Amino acid sequence: MKNYDLIVIGTGPAGEKAAVKAAYFGHKVAIIEKAEKFGGAMVVTGTLPSKTLKETSLYFSGKYEKGLYGIDRDLRHEASVEDFMFRKNFVTKTETETIETNLHRHEVDIYHGVASFEDPHTIRITGIKGEEKLYGENIIIATGSYPFHPPGIPFDGKRVHDSDTILEITRFPKSLCVVGAGVIGCEYTTIFSTMGTKVHLVNNKDEILPFVDQEVAKGLVDSMRDSGVSILFNTSIKEISVPQSEDEMIKVFLESGESFEVDMFLFAAGRSGEIKDLACEKAGIETGKRETIVVDKTYRTNVPHIYAVGDVIGFPALASTGADQGRVAVAHIFKTMDLDHLPSFFPYGIYTVPEVSMVGMTEEQAKEKGINYCASKARYPDMARGKIMGATAGFMKMVFDRDTLKILGVHVIGHIATEIVHYGLILVEEEKNLYDVIGTVFNFPTLHDLYKYAAYDGLSTITGHRVKP
Ligand SMILES: Cc1cc2nc3c(=O)[nH]c(=O)nc-3n(C[C@H](O)[C@H](O)[C@H](O)COP(=O)(O)OP(=O)(O)OC[C@H]3O[C@@H](n4cnc5c(N)ncnc54)[C@H](O)[C@@H]3O)c2cc1C
Repeated sequence: MKNYDLIVIGTGPAGEKAAVKAAYFGHKVAIIEKAEKFGGAMVVTGTLPSKTLKETSLYFSGKYEKGLYGIDRDLRHEASVEDFMFRKNFVTKTETETIETNLHRHEVDIYHGVASFEDPHTIRITGIKGEEKLYGENIIIATGSYPFHPPGIPFDGKRVHDSDTILEITRFPKSLCVVGAGVIGCEYTTIFSTMGTKVHLVNNKDEILPFVDQEVAKGLVDSMRDSGVSILFNTSIKEISVPQSEDEMIKVFLESGESFEVDMFLFAAGRSGEIKDLACEKAGIETGKRETIVVDKTYRTNVPHIYAVGDVIGFPALASTGADQGRVAVAHIFKTMDLDHLPSFFPYGIYTVPEVSMVGMTEEQAKEKGINYCASKARYPDMARGKIMGATAGFMKMVFDRDTLKILGVHVIGHIATEIVHYGLILVEEEKNLYDVIGTVFNFPTLHDLYKYAAYDGLSTITGHRVKP
């Protein structure tokens, strides 16, 4: 049986970064992957595929140019599903190759197969070549998550999909029912709607994206409705009836009594930790709600030499945070002293059309905490760069402390919001105030002017004077 300083299970962002970092610091590392491709949900079934499809939908619909020079340049043509999937497949293929190369470059031993615990230090790998056992001084579980399948939804991967199988469609739906207005549901709603599919979005609450500032979320709801999305709030699926023939429509019945027909169905509400193959009980690892693994602040489980990182530990379940959790776990295991914990603030990026991104406190949170706050705004169409781009909507909202002028939260809806937010991350993390923004010189013209205009707008509200940027 081969011995390793560290065995990592899973090659998603959390596992890959942990393995590579440990190897970089000179440790003997093995990584185990059960899927054919490396990269997990980040590369194969989630982050990058959906982000690429979003860009592709904008390209085919001509939406980048909408409104520019007062005309709608209608670039839309009958894109085939192959056209639609081409770039996504390219990105997945090249990223999975990049990960494999990176693991080889750092001399990490790669094993293919399903990993499970034999005892707290022994991992059994079951692969096509048979079984193998490895001994790990330390073990990191980075097995990710899988889409939740509620009873009563007849998932078939052809017309009734989860967020994994929707990436394998072989024809465009003319109409689509999306269930769940979380990040994944909203992203696919706007991607398909941008491609010309009639989308019905069903949500059991009366709002979307509950953790997002609700003025921004409402902006997204308005934008979806303007694009023809039918949003059905405060209801859920009672029954769906899927006929044998693909020529016949799927009938969707809601608890509210409403019903409608669609060509395809996507259930995108909830994910669970991927622990079913691990046999955690053989190592005595404590598990939690929704098949997650329970860890402390250093990502250590109740078994001192076993750590867990990424989606398998639950919130926030992002590629960005998962990768750094892997690095932090390695820092604790091997005492590399370079990364003790994740920063307290991190941004959220929601790659809808238009994009939404945020960092820090929402207006609702500031209110709830009883903070003497103020909210200010700047609009894309008012910025010189916005005018050049032909932006007709989109805004930045800043939430700041009325007494200290410290910026508590930055929220953006509009083109490349997920890029623009990062200056906001620094402002919130470093407790900067409105004058710090005003005193900073940006390139001109850029969308970073949104920060200046929002800061001046905030000052105007406080002083009562119309302060001009
Ligand atoms: C549609 C969608 C869109 C998303 N968009 C974003 C986004 O825009 N930004 C963002 O930051 N995050 C996004 N995410 C979330 C992000 O993809 C995940 O948070 C991230 O991939 C989790 O990384 P991980 O390493 O924990 O697990 P994963 O990426 O899921 O990787 C786990 C790996 O472990 C392997 N594995 C599992 N069990 C075993 C076993 N027993 N033996 C061997 N191998 C095993 C799996 O095959 C897989 O390759 C999105 C997710 C989805 C589904």
